[in-house]
Amino acid sequence: MVRTRIAPSPTGFPHIGTVYQALFNYSFAKRNKGLFIVRIEDTDRARFVEGAEEKIFEALDWFGLSENESVRAGGELGPYKQSERLEIYKKFAKELNELGGAYYCFCTKERLDALRSAQHAAKQPIMYDGQCRDLTKEEIGSKMDEPHVLRLKIPQTQKFTVTDGIRGDIEFDLTLLEDSVLIKSDGFPTYHFAVVIDDHLMEITHVIRGEEWISSLPKHVVLYDYFGWQKPLFYHTPNLRNPDKSKLSKRHGHANVDWYKDEGFLSEAILNFLALMGWSHPEQIEEFDLQEFIKLFDPKDLKPVGPVFDLTKLEWLNGIYIRKMPLEILKKRLEKFYRNDREFSVIFDSKHIDLLIGLAQSRMKKLSEFRNLVNAPQKQRGFTDEEKEQGKELLNVLEKINHTDWREDIILNHLKNFRDQNGVSMKTIYFLVTGKEQGLPLIETMVKIEGRDQVLGSLRKRSNE
Ligand code: GLU
Repeated sequence: MVRTRIAPSPTGFPHIGTVYQALFNYSFAKRNKGLFIVRIEDTDRARFVEGAEEKIFEALDWFGLSENESVRAGGELGPYKQSERLEIYKKFAKELNELGGAYYCFCTKERLDALRSAQHAAKQPIMYDGQCRDLTKEEIGSKMDEPHVLRLKIPQTQKFTVTDGIRGDIEFDLTLLEDSVLIKSDGFPTYHFAVVIDDHLMEITHVIRGEEWISSLPKHVVLYDYFGWQKPLFYHTPNLRNPDKSKLSKRHGHANVDWYKDEGFLSEAILNFLALMGWSHPEQIEEFDLQEFIKLFDPKDLKPVGPVFDLTKLEWLNGIYIRKMPLEILKKRLEKFYRNDREFSVIFDSKHIDLLIGLAQSRMKKLSEFRNLVNAPQKQRGFTDEEKEQGKELLNVLEKINHTDWREDIILNHLKNFRDQNGVSMKTIYFLVTGKEQGLPLIETMVKIEGRDQVLGSLRKRSNE
């Protein structure tokens, strides 16, 4: 049975990269009728952020990527939070030590600092020098009440091959890798140790994660080999990049899932967009939903080159999703989006609300644009003297259309004539009639929302102010 996982660390805001990994792991599990697991990796106490775990789950819920096993969903192979598994790591640390795959290290901070400075000065790679690698049993026994860590004994192999499901075989020279700490002096495991123990015990079959972990893969494989465990298949997804090719990191506002919510992006459009990062539909279709993606996705088809995270493209896709959404659903989304905007949310009680949404639908790329489209003028300014004159002329024209003739086709003809005779642009006419630079479609608004009296009244007012 296929079992995939994401293993986020609760160290800050929910990252869009976590959603990217979740999308792949979730979809591949679903495609194979397998299970998707969320494990919280919270052993780095210095970087722990209160509330970050809840935000991760909130984000998964928003995207509809719900897990089968986790701290909140339960499951047979838990606990699903590393800080609750310390006894398990201790047990395996002991076992690894007995297998000869690790050793206790008693080097003090002072010694390690001095070593680092010396290596730095000599322009050598900064790494642990293996001082405690060959201590005798007696030496170790006599020091066990001193602070110590457990280090991985990396075999001195020059050609060590690991396999990535996207890139194929990758060769590493293990003599260049340091004997990493597995258990810190406070008894907490490091990432490298805990991840291997947990992926094994949680019976993970496919590890799909970011490419920043490729350099750690040989260490993980060494651990699997020492324990004699079967390895999962590893796939390292390409890093998301900004259009200037820099890494999409925490510094960028749009690395935060909350930013997308606040901007009025739709979760399904974001998933579609993320699916196109490093993967493409066999028929080169750009617009597809999660169910379609699940039917097709295999991590081996990912391309290892950094895909460009182009927000303009996301906006375009989001606009497509908004346009094809049934009105009732769009209305619900908008109501939810503007729930806390007291001043504006009253608009949802208006008798014209369905019309307004219908008119705005084709012009909105994000939910956040609805407000400006129907309400606040972008640039609130009065008419210039020239516009006042034009306004009066236009008033003359529109007044001639009586109530029964106040129809879209008739108004359109009058406006076109006005444009041709006076040499003004449709943009100017839009401004004269609405007082806004842009917004909902003009003629439909004049007929369906405002009506003759209101249009003439406000045009008269603005032209005479
Ligand atoms: N805890 C790691 C992270 O925050 C997980 C890496 C992995 O998936 O192995 O990214």
